[in-house]
Amino acid sequence: MFCAWLQCHAQNGVQWKTLKQTQRALGCTNCLWNGDSVLFSNETNIVRFYPGRRRADVNRCTVWLNVLPEGNVSNGDWRLSAIDLDFIKLGMLTATNGEPKHLHVMLDAGHGGMDDGARSRPPLVVSEKHLTLDLVRLVGQRLEEAGMKVSYTRTNDVALALDERSLAARKAKADIFVSIHANFSPNPQSTGSETFVINPAGYAGTPEGSRARGFQIGNANDYLNTQLGYAIQRHLALMDEKVPDRGLKRQSFFVLRETSCPAVLVEIGFLSNVSELLKMLESEWMDTCADSISDGIFEYASKVDALGVAIREKREREFASKKAKAEKDKLAKVENPSLEINCVNTNYVTGVQSEEQELDAPITNRVEKTVIEMKPTEKVQPAVTNVSPQSIFDYYSKR
Ligand SMILES: [Zn+2]
Repeated sequence: MFCAWLQCHAQNGVQWKTLKQTQRALGCTNCLWNGDSVLFSNETNIVRFYPGRRRADVNRCTVWLNVLPEGNVSNGDWRLSAIDLDFIKLGMLTATNGEPKHLHVMLDAGHGGMDDGARSRPPLVVSEKHLTLDLVRLVGQRLEEAGMKVSYTRTNDVALALDERSLAARKAKADIFVSIHANFSPNPQSTGSETFVINPAGYAGTPEGSRARGFQIGNANDYLNTQLGYAIQRHLALMDEKVPDRGLKRQSFFVLRETSCPAVLVEIGFLSNVSELLKMLESEWMDTCADSISDGIFEYASKVDALGVAIREKREREFASKKAKAEKDKLAKVENPSLEINCVNTNYVTGVQSEEQELDAPITNRVEKTVIEMKPTEKVQPAVTNVSPQSIFDYYSKR
C-alpha cells in the first residue's frame, strides 16, 4: 500500500499517476508508445500525450496540461499529474446523459463603445467589438431556437467594465457565461481559435502566462469550466482541420475568475492575420463559427448532469478516504502515544491512496490554505485610434 502511495506522489508536491494508473483511469484498453507520443485509446476515446510537452490531444482537440508530464515511457517511469488526469477524465470524457438540458446562457460580446478591442491593420480595418457582437447575436439565435434562455451583457455598441459583465451573469442567475473575443498577435501568421478557462488554484496559466493564484470565485467550477471550454473548443477545432487548433488553455482573466457560474472565454481567430480576417468577414464563416460555439454549448448541456453526479461521488470518496485516514492516525496515536503524526496541513492531500483509487486527487486545488485575493483594478485596454474612418472595410462595422 505504501509503495503504491509513493508511486503517485513526488517530492515537489505534485501527485503523479503512473502509465498503468492513467490507462486504467481513462478506461483505455490500448496503450501505444511510438517514440514521440503515448496514446491511450478504447472504442470511444483517443488521448495522446507528448513527453516533455504540456500539450495533449483529447479526441483530436488540443488541451494544455497544468503540469508537464515527467519521466519516459521506454524507461517505464512516465507519469501524469493526478490533476490533469482528473480534468481529462471528468471534465472532458464524461459521457452524455441524454438530451441537452435547457440552460440559461449569458453571452458576453467582448469590448464595446470606446473600447474597440483589437483592430486589424489598415487598409482592412475591422474592430473586434463589432465582430464579437455579430457573433454573439448568431449564437444567441441558435440557443433560443433550441429552447435555451439567453441573456446578453450587451446588445449594442456600449462600453462595459469587466466587473459589470461578471455581475450581469450573477444577477441573472445564469447557468453558464460565454465571453466571445477575436485575437491579435504581432506575428501576422498567427492563426486559429482557442478557448480559455480559469487555471486551477496553485497552478500557473497555460501555455505560459498568468501566475499561479490562490482560490478564486471561478475555481468553484473547475470541472464544469473545463467541460464547457473543452466542448466548445472541440467543435471550433472541427471547423477547418487545415487551421491549427490552439486548444483549451487556462488563464486567470478577470471574467473567468470573478464569474460565479461556469465561464469560458473564446478567441475565434486573429484579426492580425489577413487571410483569417477575410474569412471572418464572410457571413458563411460566421454562421459556421456560431454553429460550432452553440454545438459546444449543447454538448456541455447534455453532459452537465452526469458530471454533477461524478463530482459528487468523487467528493464522497475523498471524504471517506480522509475520514479513514484520520481514524487510522487516531488509533495509531492511542496505541503508541509517543508517535508524532505529522500529515495534515501539507500542501497536498495526504490521504491513503492505492492503485484502486483512481479518483483520489483534490477536487479543485492542491493548496489547502485558501487565499482570497483582493480584487485587482484591471483596466480595459485603450482603443487603438490610428485608423482611417474611410476604410473600405468600415462597412462591416455598420452592419
Ligand atoms: Zn478581446
